Order: sequence, then structure tokens, then C-alpha cells
Amino acid sequence: MPRELRPCGTNAAYLRHIRKGEEVCKPCRAAHQAENRTKWRIAPPEVKARQQTHRANRYEATSRLIEAHEEEFRGLMDDIRAGGHPGGDVRNEAIRRLVAKYRPEFDKHLKTVREWADVFAEFMTKEQG
Ligand SMILES: [Zn+2]
Repeated sequence: MPRELRPCGTNAAYLRHIRKGEEVCKPCRAAHQAENRTKWRIAPPEVKARQQTHRANRYEATSRLIEAHEEEFRGLMDDIRAGGHPGGDVRNEAIRRLVAKYRPEFDKHLKTVREWADVFAEFMTKEQG
């Protein structure tokens, strides 16, 4: 018997949107954010530290990707704005589309950023040790 699909406005539905490559609707985005906030509140410090590093790395990789495709990114923002974006955040949606289009390039940036973060961390450990 197939499982019944969870309706929009749940984290399960949010993950389903992502899996199918669909645009995430507003109730699902809100449900996902609430779930993340709860997880974050109860997460142990080492998990929080790792998450923060991960987020900073992704942010840096995203910035590099946008920089490399600045005009296209601006065009995406205009398109999304013109189309009326139900999910809300136009910039995030433009980033999502840009990353989806240039996935291998984004991954390459992320790899570079991570490697540098590791080199830097090692250097700091040596300096302090
Ligand atoms: Zn939904």
C-alpha cells in the first residue's frame, strides 16, 4: 500500500518539492524553517559549529558563482520578480536556479573553499599549538 503523501505546509512536503525539483511553496518553506529552528535549538555545540562552517562555505561558493555569472543572475532576479514568485524570497530563488544550472561549477567552488578552510584551520591550530 503506498504511503499517503503529506500535504503542503509540512517538512515532508518541503522535501518532496526539493526532490522533484519543484518550486517550494510558501507554507512548505515556513514548515521547513520551523523544523530547522527546532533542530538548531536542540543541536549540540559541535554540530552547530560544523553547520556554521558549512553555511559559511556555501555562502562563499555561492558568492563566487554569482560573481562569475553576474549578468545572468540579475536577469534571473528580473524574471522571477516579473513572474511573481509565490515562495517569497526572489534572491534565494535566483540563487537556487543559478546553482541548479551550474551545479558542477558550484561544486568546484565549494571544493576550493573547503580546501582553503581546511588549510586555514590547520594553520591556526599550528599557530596556537
Ligand atoms: Zn508545498
